[in-house]
Amino acid sequence: MINHEELFSRACRVIPGGVNSPVRAFNGVGGTPLYVESGKGSKIHAADGRTLTDFCCSWGAMILGHAHDEVVAAIRARAAKGTTFGINTPDEVLFAERLCSLVPCLERVRLVNSGTEAVMTALRIARGVTGRKRIIKFDGCYHGHSDSMLVSAGSGVLTGGMVSSLGVPRHVASDTFVAPYNDINAVNALIREKGAEIAAIIVEPVAGNMGLVMPEPGFLAKLRRSADRCGALLIFDEVINGFRFNFSSYAKLAGVNPDLITLGKVIGGGLPLAAVGGAAVFMDELAPHGKIYQAGTLSGNPLAVAAGLKTLEVLERDDPYPRMAQLGRRMAETVNKAAAAKGAGLHCAQHNGVFTLFCTGDAPVRNLAAAKRCDTQAYARLFHALLKRGYYLPPSQFEVGFISAAHSEAEVMAFAQDVADAWA
Ligand SMILES: *Cc1c(COP(=O)(O)O)cnc(C)c1O
Repeated sequence: MINHEELFSRACRVIPGGVNSPVRAFNGVGGTPLYVESGKGSKIHAADGRTLTDFCCSWGAMILGHAHDEVVAAIRARAAKGTTFGINTPDEVLFAERLCSLVPCLERVRLVNSGTEAVMTALRIARGVTGRKRIIKFDGCYHGHSDSMLVSAGSGVLTGGMVSSLGVPRHVASDTFVAPYNDINAVNALIREKGAEIAAIIVEPVAGNMGLVMPEPGFLAKLRRSADRCGALLIFDEVINGFRFNFSSYAKLAGVNPDLITLGKVIGGGLPLAAVGGAAVFMDELAPHGKIYQAGTLSGNPLAVAAGLKTLEVLERDDPYPRMAQLGRRMAETVNKAAAAKGAGLHCAQHNGVFTLFCTGDAPVRNLAAAKRCDTQAYARLFHALLKRGYYLPPSQFEVGFISAAHSEAEVMAFAQDVADAWA
């Protein structure tokens, strides 16, 4: 049995802040970060001996649950045959064919190792093909940690963004405009002033990085028209959305065609894999055919492709989407009914198997400004109360929880009841 506090203090001596990704440090909820030894299905086993029902699921990557037998077997079989060659493999062709046939706006797709890389490449393509440099993003949408995306809203929409990290040059940030999510008027005002300079509008179609925030009816279609009006590319960052709500993109569900799309999380089956794709006219501008450079030693990594292919195969065969949606709906109904009876202050936002327990009486949350009005201390208390009861939630108010295909109805309904009880 391992003491988490001891492990974390050792970690802090050799890893910055003790973690390899900031949110794992529990700064949003306080307390000692968790260490996990193993996981199976919906459960994770912590190094200190606790077993928890996992509603974070590696930020959605583990849609089939942890250590799915068939995915593990596929990885094992592939590993025995070599894990990387720096040479093409047959399966990466198969995987790209699968993605292109399943996602409507994909004619070409390139595999990379992380969502950050996929977005960075999408932005470079947009700048390369338009010859413009400015980007419109939305406040509260996260697109990985490349320089132009580490930008938050400035004093006014038209002034360009402010750096949200040291080390990002001011001039890079000023090329990114930040509009409020769900605010088409702000986008159109920007386009009236600066339309000729905009290379791309990038959005998470369903926002999952300020808590769950749904696009209002027509918002995404209007973005398509706004992008067309000024000649900018429309990029849907579907690193969370893709293959999460259906066996395709959210773009397909919304009936909107972006020019470029980024995928990650689910499609990697728990290994480092992401993708950027879109229309051939844009994608073929990438090297070696075109003049926009992009590369990767481990891109299209055989192990990751094996996990991704098997995950897609199981998703298609088992079609867990209706069941995850139903469980999500019933969970949210139970929580919201109980919260209303207790005088609100808590609202479960939910879409299919994705949810956020917003500690606010002010629902629905439609943008970052509203999300920020949540009581983060109340969320921290709720998080720890639920941790005590055996549940692992995202350790921050501004993230989304996930129900996987491995969660049972009994587990989800017990969780809903425990949320209701813990919300005192
Ligand atoms: C997670 C995420 C990313 C970044 O992906 P990484 O693999 O962590 O680099 C980008 N965009 C969205 C919408 C994400 O949720």
